[in-house]
Amino acid sequence: SERKLSKREENEAVRRADDDIGALRKISRQEYLKKREKKKLEEIRGDIEDEEYLFHGVKSTEAKQRELRYKKDVYDLVKKRSQEDDNVNQYYRLPDAYDEEGQVNQDKRFAVALERYIDSKDGENTKPFTEQTAWEDHQIAKASLKFGSKNKKQSDDYNFVFEDQIEFIQGQFMGGENVDDHKEEEDERSMAKSVHEKLLADRKTLPVYPYRESLLQAIEDHQILVIVGETGSGKTTQIPQYLHEAGYTKHGKIGCTQPRRVAAMSVAARVSQELNVKLGHEVGYSIRFEDCTSDKTVIKYMTDGMLLREFLSDPDLKSYSVVMVDEAHERTLSTDVLFGLIKDVARSRRDFKLLISSATLDAEKFSDFFDSAPIFKIPGRRFPVEINYTKAPEADYLDAAIVTALQIHVTQPPGDGDILIFLTGQEEIETAEEILKQRTRSLGCKIPELVICPIYANLPTELQGKVFDPTPDGARKVVLATNIAETSLTIDGIKYVIDPGFVKLKSYNPRTGMESLQVTPISKASANQRAGRSGRTGPGKCFRLYTAYNYYHELEDNTVPEIQRTNLANVVLSLKSLGIDDLVHFNFMDPPPSEALLKAFELLYALNAVNKFGELTKLGRKMAEFPLDPMLSKMIVASDKYKCSDEIISIASMLSIGSSVFYRPKNKQLHADNARLNFHTGNVGDHVALLRVYNSWMESNYSTQWCYENYIHVRSMKRARDIRGYFSQSAKLQKNGSYMKVKNPQTVFIHPSSGLAEVVPMWVVYHELVQTSKEYMRQVSEVKPEWLVEVAPHYYQVKD
Ligand code: ADP
Ligand code: MG
Repeated sequence: SERKLSKREENEAVRRADDDIGALRKISRQEYLKKREKKKLEEIRGDIEDEEYLFHGVKSTEAKQRELRYKKDVYDLVKKRSQEDDNVNQYYRLPDAYDEEGQVNQDKRFAVALERYIDSKDGENTKPFTEQTAWEDHQIAKASLKFGSKNKKQSDDYNFVFEDQIEFIQGQFMGGENVDDHKEEEDERSMAKSVHEKLLADRKTLPVYPYRESLLQAIEDHQILVIVGETGSGKTTQIPQYLHEAGYTKHGKIGCTQPRRVAAMSVAARVSQELNVKLGHEVGYSIRFEDCTSDKTVIKYMTDGMLLREFLSDPDLKSYSVVMVDEAHERTLSTDVLFGLIKDVARSRRDFKLLISSATLDAEKFSDFFDSAPIFKIPGRRFPVEINYTKAPEADYLDAAIVTALQIHVTQPPGDGDILIFLTGQEEIETAEEILKQRTRSLGCKIPELVICPIYANLPTELQGKVFDPTPDGARKVVLATNIAETSLTIDGIKYVIDPGFVKLKSYNPRTGMESLQVTPISKASANQRAGRSGRTGPGKCFRLYTAYNYYHELEDNTVPEIQRTNLANVVLSLKSLGIDDLVHFNFMDPPPSEALLKAFELLYALNAVNKFGELTKLGRKMAEFPLDPMLSKMIVASDKYKCSDEIISIASMLSIGSSVFYRPKNKQLHADNARLNFHTGNVGDHVALLRVYNSWMESNYSTQWCYENYIHVRSMKRARDIRGYFSQSAKLQKNGSYMKVKNPQTVFIHPSSGLAEVVPMWVVYHELVQTSKEYMRQVSEVKPEWLVEVAPHYYQVKD
């Protein structure tokens, strides 16, 4: 598996080796050996974690297992020895700072870490967290990664230094051998070239690349294929491109579903860059309330919920030649329902290809469900990850996470890797951001720069890209993410993962009919996925803010699929409108509890969406057309009767924002509360208050200043405005009788069922687009273009 170094690399290696040796000589041999042992311990430990992964999903090869057994033996030996020597484990333990009552005192903790840092800056390298140790670890990792087996050709000294590190690292490289051959080539070629060519070179370094041909062959040979591969191996971004390159887009689109809208948007953006096309042209995305595709689009990323909606107008998915249900292991409600529906599509359309892709979990289960579809495994590239647990449970995980991050930041050299913290939601992320900013500001230039990057579902699009920006020299990035970074998004350069062990999950009590979002402990599978995020580009470290006992004895093995813990009213309504009557016998991978189904029918019956035989009513059919919760759809449908649709649509938009409208900064809570009460004058309820907020904002001409003055989140308001109404869905008549969509230009036609099909007005708005033999607009009304400008000046401009 040796690869040839280029002349340039070789010179560089020799130069670096000289530097390293010079520096390492400064440490005494004995000290070095002790540290090397510790290092080995970490890596072996990481590998045993790895073994656990392998058992979870992908079966390891026999060779790999033998290797692991061997390493485990070594590990036990080293462990035994390390127990005799307290110092070995010291280094990675967080400094303990307990107060008299035995509670963890975070401030004290942080003070300890900082003290150590400042000590080490003063040159007193006596404490465990010294720059020296950090530097050394960094060098070892870097050198052994960079040079591979070539080290042996250097001097004896060098051999001594890296002896058994190399073998070990090489083992880790096994799955990615071919990848590195290409990387070398590409690195050279991309040196002086354009950003785009650099991107192309990057594509070839991904773990999936060497399997391109065999994967395409497998897809050709089988109608349904389950694909498993570690997160970051290139499944989402590469496979649709391979299919496109192989000609699968000649007779239909490639659809790729994502459980999260941020993932759909960001991946589409990435792929359009890689293909060097404008987002929304050949590569596009479709998420609720936003469609960024055109008639050119051949690779379409979308939320699983959107594909589900497409079934309503096109039950055979005729416009698709391939559908990839991605992140299948997430088992979202929509994905689970898609499984049942799409299995039928595959049966009725022999020309249709179905790919089910997932991180390395549950592959057999998917295969079983899809008539024993073969499993294609993409061997991953993974570096050992050291797992650290806290000694005692943490009372405040948010604070503990912040302290840990700062500790890492002040004790480890900034260039060696970024930090990823898993938090449960937007609010928590905003709080963490605020505290981190405060604390780093108070330290000023005593510490290197810390770039804080939040990422969560409702983060405005323009800010989402920031997490992917390379970290500036001399700084460190800390990513504050929800579960989205667990498998959907891969952020390069993460070396430290901080895992508080919680996630916000929907839970549903069918007896009371109450649905709630609750902060819940994660599963073991999730914990391992999270840890794995740190070992992508080099050996990583994961700090679990819970004890090893918690992990082994209290966490569930897997997360319960959403379908078993959610309100099903919406799903029942959609399935009913697809003509699926027998829901009890619908082909669910894991059927929902029958109480939950019953409760859903009860609610739909109460809303008049189904009759007492459980059949869809006319009203129910109308309701199903809205991409909304049945309660909201009913509200909108009913508003027609009460002549208040305008107001109701505003309210529904405000309710659909998904994040808070009111802003309540810590130091101005009283002002903010007063501002809020203003909208409640006359003791009106929250709905009317929301309507007043929307209307006042509209009257202020959508002013940002107005939002500031009234403690309103301007981003939330902009989203409400985007959601509201159909104004984004307008089209203009063309010479040939077809219409051109105004936003995301695309040729469309008026559906024959429309009353305007014969009238052909100049300007129209429509409710939805459906694809049958052509792209049709359904529910069409004539408008004057001035109206569009009047109701949505931010959207339309008059061309002179
Ligand atoms: P998988 O689906 O197997 O988890 P992906 O195809 O999502 O892997 O990611 C492959 C690589 O593409 C990642 O390592 C990451 O570096 C890069 N990547 C993906 N999305 C983006 C993005 N939006 N911006 C920058 N890089 C990205
Ligand atoms: Mg992916």
